[in-house]
Amino acid sequence: MTDREQPSTLESAEASPPDEAVVWKELLYEAGRRSRTEVEIFLTAFLSACQAQGWSDWTPLRRLVALEDPDLYRAILTGDLPESFPEGLRKAWSAFARRWSARRDDPRPSASDGATLPRRGPLQAGEWVLLIDAKGRHYLTRLEPGQNFTFHLGSVPMDAILGQTEGTAVRSSKGHPLLVFRPTLRDYLLQMPRHAQVVYPKDSAVMAMWGDLYPGARVLESGLGSGALAMVILRAVGPTGRLVSYEIRADFIRRAVRNIERWLGSIPENHEIHNEDIARAQVEPESFDRAFLDLPTPTEGLPVATGALRPGGILVSISPTVPQVQETVEWLRASNLYGSIEVLEVLVRPWNVKGHSVRPAHFMVAHTAFIVVARRLRPGQSFVDDVYI
Ligand code: SAH
Repeated sequence: MTDREQPSTLESAEASPPDEAVVWKELLYEAGRRSRTEVEIFLTAFLSACQAQGWSDWTPLRRLVALEDPDLYRAILTGDLPESFPEGLRKAWSAFARRWSARRDDPRPSASDGATLPRRGPLQAGEWVLLIDAKGRHYLTRLEPGQNFTFHLGSVPMDAILGQTEGTAVRSSKGHPLLVFRPTLRDYLLQMPRHAQVVYPKDSAVMAMWGDLYPGARVLESGLGSGALAMVILRAVGPTGRLVSYEIRADFIRRAVRNIERWLGSIPENHEIHNEDIARAQVEPESFDRAFLDLPTPTEGLPVATGALRPGGILVSISPTVPQVQETVEWLRASNLYGSIEVLEVLVRPWNVKGHSVRPAHFMVAHTAFIVVARRLRPGQSFVDDVYI
């Protein structure tokens, strides 16, 4: 869904230089796959090294941010800065990076291990936890020894949560209770950083069922966006399935990869990501069981998705606006290659149940998108014209 895309912090670097600290934080968080606290330590050290050397040239940073220069990107991470950087800074940075990489061997689970740790038993360092306050507000945080979780109702030492059993309640410094659970995928998808509009869990839940995702299914997807739908597909197809995602924007891929890694630990082997326009993708005919499209112009992806689907395969397309849906359905009909075309939307209405007040909640998400589902026919199945059009 793309009618509400936000430029990412990194992209906006081109228009006007953002705060250096913000850019570095973004970058190192992505690259280092460490916890925010550790990235902040890393960043502070680098910035003070820059300051000590009077380095304020933005050009290498801009190139780095645009990922035009992968060597520079690696150089920064390894501590081996190129000669274009002042010598003093190069030395200071290389010394710091050595200490930094030594810390990488720290036996404590790295940030990316959170989701791969056991999802049951006592809560461990590096895991995500969901904290719920008395008003039902959700806070997602990662457990780090010695750190505090701080919010508007006080703070809680993470050491008080580490080792606890899920379903425990803790009290904040200001006396407010918080329930502690491991987050569900739905919790994570709603809280993770997004840039393109993501598919909401209420929609992806229905897409998974209407699209009949099953363990072992081979699924084609475009675009990847923030990776929200991809994570739902990966979970449904399991390790024996396969997901191939096409995404036109490299910066979105980087963000999606980071989102998936933060949840799954790493990009699973059965998830292939191509930085390519779906319209130009070379896909083996009839080699996919399911195709999921979430594109601003669905008709750009329909020819490739249709060629990729085997007969009996299912196409699921999601779009926020009526003209997109209309164009999609017209294209499907005109192709003569689809039957059983369905269009639907998913309205989830939460309820309030407290004492005598048993009624729908006052507010709900009124609109996200429309979902189009259709089944791929055997080629040359001509008489469907009479039945379905
Ligand atoms: N389903 C995603 C959101 C996708 S937003 C999620 O849940 O997170 C739509 C995405 O399609 C954007 O990232 C956009 O860059 C990408 N896109 C647009 N046109 C494309 C094309 N022709 N080929 C591949 N990707 C495309």
